[in-house]
Amino acid sequence: MEDVILIRYGEIYLKGLNRPFFENMLIKNIKKALEEFGDIQVKKGQGRLYVEKIKDMRGAISRLSKIFGIISVSPAIKLSKDMESIEDGVRVIMRDAISKHGTDNITFKVESRRSDKSFPKNSMELNKELGAFLLKEFPNLKVDVHNPQVLISVEIREWAYVYHEVIDGVGGMPIGTNGKATLLLSGGIDSPVAGWMIAKRGVELSAVYYHSVPYTSERAKQKVIDLARVLSEYSGRIKLYVVPFTKIQQDIYINCPEAQLTILMRRFMMKIAEEIAKRENAKVLVTGESIGQVASQTLESLVVTDDAVDMPVLRPLVGFDKVEIMDLAKEIGTYDISILPYEDCCTVFVPKHPVTRPKLESVKKAEGLLDVDTLIKEALDNLEIIKI
Ligand code: ATP
Ligand code: MG
Repeated sequence: MEDVILIRYGEIYLKGLNRPFFENMLIKNIKKALEEFGDIQVKKGQGRLYVEKIKDMRGAISRLSKIFGIISVSPAIKLSKDMESIEDGVRVIMRDAISKHGTDNITFKVESRRSDKSFPKNSMELNKELGAFLLKEFPNLKVDVHNPQVLISVEIREWAYVYHEVIDGVGGMPIGTNGKATLLLSGGIDSPVAGWMIAKRGVELSAVYYHSVPYTSERAKQKVIDLARVLSEYSGRIKLYVVPFTKIQQDIYINCPEAQLTILMRRFMMKIAEEIAKRENAKVLVTGESIGQVASQTLESLVVTDDAVDMPVLRPLVGFDKVEIMDLAKEIGTYDISILPYEDCCTVFVPKHPVTRPKLESVKKAEGLLDVDTLIKEALDNLEIIKI
């Protein structure tokens, strides 16, 4: 009898020739995520993975709950395929279920699946015999086949597996199966969620943060580092580029019309991020913008922002309301960090009346008053890289 974790992963994208690629990437990511739990083993089954030799079951499951590509996991017991062992297994699993419910006065059902047809009992027989066995062992239990409080699952495969818990995973696709993107990561609520959504589709992330010393403090930067760290629990390692932005903001402030400060600043952010993305071999940029949320996120503003770069800009939150974004931020664990009150660079040079419908021509004209290339080069020459 051995404790194992049974892992279910998405089937849709696993059809055809790509299957081994996705499976192997998922296995690699699982091994990396569970490194701290010692010498574990990950084995392939039919459409399943099994993690064996785990010392800290709950710790490992909590790590697995953040691995993209996993649909659900079950802490299970692996047994040899004979009735005596299987009975021992269901007894242990039922004891666990009873302790979780705090009472043995509960309803249950046994649901068996027999993939190994050479096993002498079929699933109906197994259900009946194991149900009767449990009733004898725990006389307060009752059977309820329609709506049981505890569902004991028995699977006869390469080995026999018994479990009662099915814990949801995050879904998505394994990181590393869909290329790379560069995320513009501020200390706000939106951009970490945007990064999470893109990483969920199997995309590896690097991140850029624009830092405006002395207008933004070390603590504001630390906040972004902390956000990147939470994100990296899902996405794997993130290279965070911290780019000095003060000079650019001051130059815009001094030379350009006040109403256009923000939109000009956004274009610089995009241009610099594009250069960093190229270094990182990333194919797209990602931002936390959502249509109409602020003046710089009207459709007109987004068009003028996009014009600054050739690279496609992904905005996974375009159609989300703020409350929906906040809910997701809470779910993934970034919200509490995001609401810490440290200023970000955009709150420093905010125009009183920003343009809400910027015209590309007039923005470009204002931009022409600046030495754009030199400003970008200086920023890139002085960036700091933090590996998370
Ligand atoms: P967030 O909650 O992500 O800060 P926001 O609603 O505050 O977004 P803006 O401040 O207009 O919106 O920023 C829009 C997007 O631009 C952000 O989601 C982020 O992707 C990027 N961004 C803004 N400020 C910075 C910054 N200081 N460093 C890096 N990216 C930034
Ligand atoms: Mg912000």
